[in-house]
Amino acid sequence: MLQTVDCSEIEIVYPLRSPIDNIIAVKPGSEGKNAVLLTAHYDSGWAGPGAADDGAGTAAALEIARMAANFPPFKNDIIFLISDSEENGLIGADAFAQHHPLFSKVKAVINLEARGVTGSSAMFETGEGNRRIIRIFSKTVDRPAANSLFNEMYKRMPNNTDYTVYKNKGVMGLNFAFSKGVALYHSAIDDSDHLDIGSLQHHGDNAWSMIKALGEHDLDHITSQEDAGYIDVFSTRLLHYPSSIVLGLSLVLGIWVLIAIGIAFRKDFRIWQLRWGLLVVPFMLGSIVMGAYLFSYPLGHWPDLHPIEHPYPWVGRLVLFGVVLLSLYTTIKLFSGKVSPCAMMMLGWGLILAAGMVLASKMPTAGHITLVPLALFAIGSVIDIFRKKSPAPLLMASVLGFAGTAFISFYHFFMLDTVLNFDNSQFKIIPLAYMMLTAFPMLLAFSRRHELSWQPVRWSLVGLLLACLVHLSLPGFTPDRPRGMTLMYSEVEGSDTGHLVIESLFTNHDEEYAKDHGFKPVEVDSGWSRLIERPARAVPALNLPGVEVKIHSVRQEEDGWSHDFVLHTTDRLQFLLVIVRSDTGLEKAWVDGQLALDNSLETKSQRRVNSLRLVNPNKSSFEIRLLTDNPDSIDLSLITWHPLPIELVAPFMGDWPDDAQAVVYGPRARKIQKISLDGANE
Ligand SMILES: [Zn+2]
Repeated sequence: MLQTVDCSEIEIVYPLRSPIDNIIAVKPGSEGKNAVLLTAHYDSGWAGPGAADDGAGTAAALEIARMAANFPPFKNDIIFLISDSEENGLIGADAFAQHHPLFSKVKAVINLEARGVTGSSAMFETGEGNRRIIRIFSKTVDRPAANSLFNEMYKRMPNNTDYTVYKNKGVMGLNFAFSKGVALYHSAIDDSDHLDIGSLQHHGDNAWSMIKALGEHDLDHITSQEDAGYIDVFSTRLLHYPSSIVLGLSLVLGIWVLIAIGIAFRKDFRIWQLRWGLLVVPFMLGSIVMGAYLFSYPLGHWPDLHPIEHPYPWVGRLVLFGVVLLSLYTTIKLFSGKVSPCAMMMLGWGLILAAGMVLASKMPTAGHITLVPLALFAIGSVIDIFRKKSPAPLLMASVLGFAGTAFISFYHFFMLDTVLNFDNSQFKIIPLAYMMLTAFPMLLAFSRRHELSWQPVRWSLVGLLLACLVHLSLPGFTPDRPRGMTLMYSEVEGSDTGHLVIESLFTNHDEEYAKDHGFKPVEVDSGWSRLIERPARAVPALNLPGVEVKIHSVRQEEDGWSHDFVLHTTDRLQFLLVIVRSDTGLEKAWVDGQLALDNSLETKSQRRVNSLRLVNPNKSSFEIRLLTDNPDSIDLSLITWHPLPIELVAPFMGDWPDDAQAVVYGPRARKIQKISLDGANE
């Protein structure tokens, strides 16, 4: 039942060029007017085998293709695209969208990705007007993991996946990725031993459910007029709502909640009770941020840590929870007698309503942050009305409302786990402030019957400091969560010496290893018109082949000055990077007559591109044309990558730290050539 369509050797690019092989298969539909595209990419980072990114997505897509082949036809075509060269700039996806005739049928995309090796396959990005597809997602997927706030954040991040290509063309879609174990992302051991089989299964379950649902859906109307807000409840179900109801619903629920509080406390509430209350909220927020900032030194600044994820996070997390409890206790101790629980309840829920109003106008798809607690409080208040004897007014409402804020707090606290490590504890802790707002009035009411002393504060501080000692003794890197560190050789043409460099992700290398093996801080030329300090050893230059510039001409054109030249190489190149100095005024560049860079185009990150990358070019000469806005000469850096000679690194491999693995580019020998092309007046 599966047709295969050949789509080999389509070459396209921005701002990069690489030959590609996309693999495409189609399961024809009974109507076949529209198509669902299931896609994953089969290339990976340079350093590793890419079992998670994106072997998992590829495996899931293949398995779904196998199952789909035995299924009766769906209404719509199902297109399977295993794309090439995603990591180099979404080239395979771009080629499919720009050149393949099947693309015009595609009305919905399921993309499978990874940014780590474990965790749930979360749906982190959708298209504009996603109300309908979110409803389908919620109905069909058994274990949904998704939060529309993340979709909003992702829009503002420079990151891209293959889905970016289709989304920019207005195609609706769902983008799935798992993102824990980020230390292994693009690493030498992103292999099948380190891939979480549960994450792979979740990918497959999500995609297969969506393919079956979308395969039968009327895809002409898959894009809605509006977006949905959504959040999963412990991956068991998806709460979702149209963004248009956020303002009205927030107002109705918020006013209901405030009236319920007003009626319940009509006898004790006086407006002047709010005076001190206004200090409580900034005090609580200030104290946890300040406390977390101070603890970020023992938790994150002093230990040697990956910048994003800790292999043993629980002690650090408990310290942050401790800071929250300490702040609550201290606030109660300081303000008890000055503020009343009912005033604090009024204030806390009033703030939640105000936040809801701001969200409704600025980011309605994040409305659940305030809607979930407000709705739970409102439900609780109805239960309270019907309960005959309650030990305290609005008890059920308070408890349910607190549960709502605690759910939102912890959800986002753990979400930040895959973005921030403990060196940013002052930001990590902020989601927890939310539930303090609703916990405080309850604790205040409870504590009125007890005399509080400073003793517990002292002991908790001792406890937290001890916990910090335990945290400091935990390794920040392990063989399964290694640091990104590799050996790389670098030379600049014309110099007799090269350097063996310890290259590391986020400059986070093993300092002890560097010192013991004679790597000293050296200013190494990066080719990007700046020197970078790296641990390195000087070695005799290898005199790598590099490239030669042949036949250069410059002429004036309608839209600028055109420099034409030929780059020639005798080596089988893995990689060639052409860097143009940033003040050159580069407008466009062509490789072998094809547009490869266009600074008039808007990219997601919106910055000017001054470099051209050629990946696995498989050729010995390239015609390059650079268009600049002035007639001056052009300074170029030409960087080529070559295999790293084993005899150069063998002496260092014997006792290579077992918590260090190559990440991103991996071991290589780099040659930098600096060339000046004459301007029009020379
Ligand atoms: Zn990927």
